[in-house]
Amino acid sequence: MQMTGVGIGRGSAIGQVVRMPEPLPDPQDSPSSRSAEDEGARAAASLAAVAADIRDRGARAGGSAKNVLEAQAFMAEDPTLSADVTTRLADGKTAERAVFEAFAGFRDMLRSMGGYMGERAADLDDVSQRVVAHLSGVPAPGVPSPEHPFILVARDLAPADTALLDLDKVLALVTSDGGPTSHTAILARDKAIVAIVGVSEASSLSDGDTVIVDAATGAVTVSPTDDEIAAAERAIAERESAIAAPTGPGALADGTPVPLLANLGSAAAAEDAVTKGAEGVGLFRTEFLFLDSNSAPTVEEQQGHYTKLLQAFPGKKVVVRVLDAGADKPLSFLNDSPEENPALGLRGLRALRANEQILRDQLTALANADAATESDLWVMAPMVSTVEEARYFTALAHDLGLRTAGVMVEVPSAALLADRILAESDFASIGTNDLTQYTLAADRLLGSVASFQDPWHPAVLRLVGEVGAAGAALDRPVGICGEAAADPLLAVVLVGLGATTLSMSPAALADVRAELARFTLDQAKQFASLALSANSAVEARAAVTAAIQ
Ligand code: PEP
Ligand code: MG
Repeated sequence: MQMTGVGIGRGSAIGQVVRMPEPLPDPQDSPSSRSAEDEGARAAASLAAVAADIRDRGARAGGSAKNVLEAQAFMAEDPTLSADVTTRLADGKTAERAVFEAFAGFRDMLRSMGGYMGERAADLDDVSQRVVAHLSGVPAPGVPSPEHPFILVARDLAPADTALLDLDKVLALVTSDGGPTSHTAILARDKAIVAIVGVSEASSLSDGDTVIVDAATGAVTVSPTDDEIAAAERAIAERESAIAAPTGPGALADGTPVPLLANLGSAAAAEDAVTKGAEGVGLFRTEFLFLDSNSAPTVEEQQGHYTKLLQAFPGKKVVVRVLDAGADKPLSFLNDSPEENPALGLRGLRALRANEQILRDQLTALANADAATESDLWVMAPMVSTVEEARYFTALAHDLGLRTAGVMVEVPSAALLADRILAESDFASIGTNDLTQYTLAADRLLGSVASFQDPWHPAVLRLVGEVGAAGAALDRPVGICGEAAADPLLAVVLVGLGATTLSMSPAALADVRAELARFTLDQAKQFASLALSANSAVEARAAVTAAIQ
């Protein structure tokens, strides 16, 4: 028997189910024998203790878990919630019941909003359970710890639980609630845990059931046959060896090369990228070097950073992006005047042109580093929105001694005029994070519109296709350097749309390399056309997933 949900990543696992314990029973709604003040003091103390405990878990877990748990600790400290608790205590309720009711009210409100906010509802439930458990002096329901490795099945996992999972024991996660942007999904991705979320039938799984969890297909196979177990064991072994030993350059099954490059923010990260099989750098985010600076960095200071980076990739292609200031990446020395809509403001290349000496200094530092090292340096400009900007940047970079100068395609206007933009540039690199933000008009920093931020959206893919076609017609390379390239299946679709290289965070390289090797260019093109014919991101993903099966 098979159940399906949304797989996170590419891994698979075989094991026995252990279910997360059921939540605590709802506290009784009987009148309190204490005064409202006493109950108020108990509630306040437990809310504070739970906030401190959650924060401590975040500090121990680190990574993105820290931010997630910090946000959850704030829920326990929310003044509106505690005002709600106080109102209920004034009606003679116990602290347990007042906390339970106040959180339930907020939870229902979030759930009714749906999307990203709806997926935060489980986080509120978790805080509520922890506070009620603390008030009642019982342990909060948490991840069980049997002696043997297991597949954890839950309605949804609280960030506080996911963050500190024992990865030697938990082979995979299966949840009945939660979507691709739930915290379970975010943290599973971060920790590379095999996970399938939103498996609505998972509630029928029992402790001790044997299951195969295959994140690549989103399938949970219950009570598998010996043949199914043997096939899954082979797949697990193949994936483990592919990850452990990156073999050869990225290529499709028919041999079409697709160089796999790394997105980096510092030269220090280069070694790890090389170990993981990066064939070069597809996006070096130079603004990350100077986020704390109050004044523009000097040519010498920059030259030091760039030289170190280039030395890590002798003979390899390294694409460096000039400073991309603005919105999510503010640089006070480039654009510090307040703007109402910074994502639509004086950012990227626009900010550099307004401070041309900073751009000249950076290109000079890059040219000097290039002259002193052996790698193949390419430079590119962020947030290009007109043909004239492409012409300006390419000419300036060439004048300052850089051989290869291109533009990022992150704004729909640049994608729509890709043929003319590419006629003025040596290459294009598509930043799918911003391209998705601007195509769907959905702020990439805003949780409430996160469901719109999906690069599988056919509108985004159509724009990628425009750039791919222009690149092919003019014989110009077209790279992808947004998060989309790190989604193995989407990576195949992007190649089908004309991408010639893919750049991603180094952790994603092995899975993308393995996925590309499964399909020919003709197949990639077929998948691309299926995705383009869909009406939504969800339909596009589903159509291609069905086709590969
Ligand atoms: C992008 O926008 O996709 C991109 C790669 O650039 P950044 O994420 O740094 O804005
Ligand atoms: Mg960008």
